[in-house]
Amino acid sequence: MKNILRFFMIITTSLLSTILIIMIIAVICSGLGIMFVVDTMENTTKISIPEAVKEKSSYIYSINNDTGEYDLIYKVTPYTGNAHIDIDIDTLPEYIPAAFVCVEDERFYSHDGVDIKTTAFAVIKEILRCCGIISPEMTGGSTITQQLVKNITGDSEITADRKIREIFRAVNLEKKYTKDEILEKYLNIIYFGQTPDGYNMYGIEAAAIGYFGVSASDLTVAQAASLAAIPTSPNSINPIVDYTANDERKKYCLRKMFEHGIISPFQYEKALNEKLITADKTSDSSLITLSEYPDDFKNPEPTTWVIDTALSEFCDYLCEAENISRDEAMNRFMSGGYELYLTVDEKIQSHLEEKYSDFTYFPENTAEYINENEELVVETAQSAIVVMNYKGQIKGIVGRIGKKTDSFGWNNAIDAHRQPGSTIKPLTVYAYGIENNLLTWSDMFNDTPLTAGTASEEAWPANYTQTYSEKLFTTNEALLNSLNTIPAQLCNRYGTQNIFDFTTSVMRLPLNENTDISYAALSVGATGTGPSLVSLANSYMPFGNGGLYYKAHIINRIKDSSSKRVYVEKDARKGIRVISEETSFIMNKMLRNVITDGTGKNALLTNKQNIGKTGTTEHYRDITFVGLTEDFVSAIWIGYENGTNSYAIKNTNSALVWKKVFGEFADNYVSDARFPECESVIYTDYCAESGMPASKGCTSGGKGFYKSDNCNYCDVKHKNLIRK
Ligand SMILES: [Zn+2]
Repeated sequence: MKNILRFFMIITTSLLSTILIIMIIAVICSGLGIMFVVDTMENTTKISIPEAVKEKSSYIYSINNDTGEYDLIYKVTPYTGNAHIDIDIDTLPEYIPAAFVCVEDERFYSHDGVDIKTTAFAVIKEILRCCGIISPEMTGGSTITQQLVKNITGDSEITADRKIREIFRAVNLEKKYTKDEILEKYLNIIYFGQTPDGYNMYGIEAAAIGYFGVSASDLTVAQAASLAAIPTSPNSINPIVDYTANDERKKYCLRKMFEHGIISPFQYEKALNEKLITADKTSDSSLITLSEYPDDFKNPEPTTWVIDTALSEFCDYLCEAENISRDEAMNRFMSGGYELYLTVDEKIQSHLEEKYSDFTYFPENTAEYINENEELVVETAQSAIVVMNYKGQIKGIVGRIGKKTDSFGWNNAIDAHRQPGSTIKPLTVYAYGIENNLLTWSDMFNDTPLTAGTASEEAWPANYTQTYSEKLFTTNEALLNSLNTIPAQLCNRYGTQNIFDFTTSVMRLPLNENTDISYAALSVGATGTGPSLVSLANSYMPFGNGGLYYKAHIINRIKDSSSKRVYVEKDARKGIRVISEETSFIMNKMLRNVITDGTGKNALLTNKQNIGKTGTTEHYRDITFVGLTEDFVSAIWIGYENGTNSYAIKNTNSALVWKKVFGEFADNYVSDARFPECESVIYTDYCAESGMPASKGCTSGGKGFYKSDNCNYCDVKHKNLIRK
């Protein structure tokens, strides 16, 4: 029996060893492959250590209306919100940097930035982790140089290509700097966790003060080992949060230091016996505290909506231009010496922020629901608004109602993707039909649902009144009454693919090709996810400026640290003609009727012409209004942010809220801007019977606007038939 057991053990052991050897060989081979590519690709991944003290602050400016000059609205330094004190490595006892080398990267002095042996083990560990054999926190395998790269770039996303780039960068860094320079910067930049009073500690000096109340140069061997134990998992393996876990790794570090001859047997023994007391557990007044350092160390005020929007756009640009992650782009802003000049109008912005400071202007809507933790949640309906001019310059933006408490938090105007409801109709069937001469102002349609083309073959869609009049409506009447039936018929007639292509590539409304090539999405705005509020407003712009699209943007220009202009978004500057002047003019007139005679009556202004469209999604889950004045394009959304999709927004008219929070401001905005005229469009009576421009003998049904190349006069032989 014993022999059989032994036999099996031998078999198992040798099998495992063989597998391990194969794995190691595979990993080493691929490691060599990487080393080979490094030389050929080094130019693409050049990196330099920013000199800590000279790291650049970044600034954001917006235009002051009164002076016409740019005002500084945001400044960020690499130290903002972080405790970060640079020190010279020469001031430290040798055992301090050595402690980090021992525990983080034993072969630091012999490798060229990447440790093939460590990388090989890391890959094996990764495989074991994937198989569930070891826990995630046991993996690692980055050299000190690689960790420095990660810290300089802020790129901590773990994907294969980023890992490979990190390796290239580490190798380049080693060619450029000495080991001591790399180690010094590493010790000055790495994250050491947070103190109980909220300081984020970066670098060994801040950590020494934060954890032990002493300068790094005064750390004992045991204290140094305790700090060296932290970077692997700063928020958990630190002596304040988990003394035992830290102690265990500290002992491991001390043993390594002893084995490498860094400390003597006597020092080793002494350090093992030293009882560490962290600064939070003593009232020793001789200790130094981080509160003696500058205010920059403390967490700054929450960022504004404008700053959040600007930095989101900055990251979009930098991610795309440099193929880096958002984290890295943000990190570059924080210490890269950028200057952003914004398009925001401070007067409009402060007006909107005032309206959004509390719920005064928003009818009260709350919903109660049970969340996934089976807790009762009471949620208040939220709102967002964006205002831009006809060049796509964002003049004001607010992402939520109420006091803003977080930096770079959720912004309903740019982050939320809600169903646009009926606000989608002008951008889909109506503009498509008119632009392509398939539809006129007064083409007539019966207000009846489709019975074909829907999955259930049931009558669809319902009008928002839940009734069908079975009466004839002109195109203009269907739009101003926001009927659902007629857009569905138009969708059926033109084809969903054609409408989808037009809406996404001509009107540039971002939709989802997996869910939105459908009647529901294109005729009533029941999209899968939905465009952002900014994108929705942006797509309406051509209806107010003669058919041109300028991409919405909040950054006018970006300067980098050398003060060269590095970024002017060409698309944003250059208007793109997306629909003809005639189509734009006719759409403008129809959207004007929405305000004067239709569902948008509550948005009617006194001094200015304005046009717009209401939108309500199924069961009043979201209500939206897109409002265009002669100066501005704007859109407002009201709805629930979280798990309350089945709750209705009650007693709220989006057109009215729009008027109260922005319309009245726009009404009194001093300017001589006017909606463009279009001389070539024909304004004439239409025939009450045929819906075509009226000829002699027709009974007039009203007046309409017609494109010059799609104005076919009535040729019906009338027998005194009266419409309806
Ligand atoms: Zn006629």
